[in-house]
Amino acid sequence: MSDQTFRPMTMGQQFGRRSWAEPWKIKMVEPIRIPTRAEREQALREAGYNTFLLPSDLVYIDLLTDSGTSAMSDRQWAAMMLGDEAYAGSRNFYHLEEAIQTYYGYRYIVPTHQGRGAEHLISQACIKPGQYVPGNMYFTTTRLHQELAGGTFVDVIIDEAHDPTSMHPFKGNVDLNKLQALIDEVGAAQIAYVSLAGTVNMAGGQPVSMSNVRALRALCDRYGIPIYLDATRMAENAFFIQEREEAYADKPIADILKDFCAYTDGAWMSAKKDNLVNIGGWLAVNDADLFDQLRNMVVIFEGLHTYGGMAGRDMEALAVGIAESVQDDHITARVGQVRYLGELLTDWDIPIVQPVGGHAVFLDAKRFYAHLPQDQFPAQVLAAQLYLDSGIRSMERGIVSAGRDPETGDHRYPRLELVRLTIPRRVYTQAHMDVTAEAVKAVYDARAETKGLRMVYEPKYLRFFQARFEPIA
Ligand SMILES: *Cc1c(COP(=O)(O)O)cnc(C)c1O
Repeated sequence: MSDQTFRPMTMGQQFGRRSWAEPWKIKMVEPIRIPTRAEREQALREAGYNTFLLPSDLVYIDLLTDSGTSAMSDRQWAAMMLGDEAYAGSRNFYHLEEAIQTYYGYRYIVPTHQGRGAEHLISQACIKPGQYVPGNMYFTTTRLHQELAGGTFVDVIIDEAHDPTSMHPFKGNVDLNKLQALIDEVGAAQIAYVSLAGTVNMAGGQPVSMSNVRALRALCDRYGIPIYLDATRMAENAFFIQEREEAYADKPIADILKDFCAYTDGAWMSAKKDNLVNIGGWLAVNDADLFDQLRNMVVIFEGLHTYGGMAGRDMEALAVGIAESVQDDHITARVGQVRYLGELLTDWDIPIVQPVGGHAVFLDAKRFYAHLPQDQFPAQVLAAQLYLDSGIRSMERGIVSAGRDPETGDHRYPRLELVRLTIPRRVYTQAHMDVTAEAVKAVYDARAETKGLRMVYEPKYLRFFQARFEPIA
């Protein structure tokens, strides 16, 4: 498939003339309210123009993240009542272990409190100081844990990933030539592992193809380099393989997911995303010695190896969530809702990352505010303006998130300067998507008068969470 000809189908095209709808109905509702304009102005000022610092009571539609924000099913809530809160050997752990083995196919499981707990363990266990960790674009917490373990992250994603207008169907793919060049330069022994992410968050939720992971496996086998997978949104990645790789068109999502994982040596998971729970994570590997080491380390940092920081009831809900998360009708509706929002914005010529990814629509702040230099934080500005207009909360994914280069101390200037409208799973309706699209349009129409921001407080680690800003007069 060449990137000139590729256009993802609308869900209408995919399923014929008829509309599709979510495979669930709503049993319980949570009231939300639109704060007044005056409340929004004050809240934004008090939050230092950082949407992470807004109280959620003053948010109308919350698209900050899809992390831990999913609606659980009635089965998951029922599972919460089956919590076995024994300190050791909780029966819920064995259910969780079985679900991960069944659906992801890995042999050994270590539970963690959330994804970064698992990233910490795998980084500390597998990276020797001075080693390199090549990956298909960085993720904030992932790279930080790799750096804290003494590693250096090297981006080996294909160039198309950095171009928000490229229609490449698998913009998450690893560029094998870049990886080969790194191996030639530093030697295979200096590479800790390949850090592969299924749907690349920072590139706009872009998928990795099955043929890419197969070729990656072959290359790594030649040098004895392991591959560890960030499986956080791998079920969504499987949907794109089903849609875009002919050999998988008739395969269920669950089978595609397991086939993909089989090319890797292990995975870490933020269960707060694909796996449909509000908190939780896990780490899974196939190597018995590595597992031994990880199972020992988890006791120091997370909790005993049969709960890892989760309550028994949370592990039970997670085991049920895993099974639900790989159902074809669930994933189709999930990605379909994201695509619906993306299509509305595309129809209005609003600059977004194309093709629309699995969990979010990413607004291209560089093109949105072409008059603002990157060090006036155009994506931060856009997230603030969207909140001001309608109480909708989004997230900066640009220069603030990229942080500073640990060597030079300068800002990293990423090519992508984005605002993420992240859709929680099974939470909002199509009407919420319409309201969101109209709000983005209103902010877009007022773009010429919009001014930049200056950073007035900057924390040392993961600054985007807590940094504060002021408008430039
Ligand atoms: C959220 C996320 C993580 C970190 O997981 P937490 O559960 O937030 O600690 C790691 N990788 C990716 C791709 C993520 O989206």
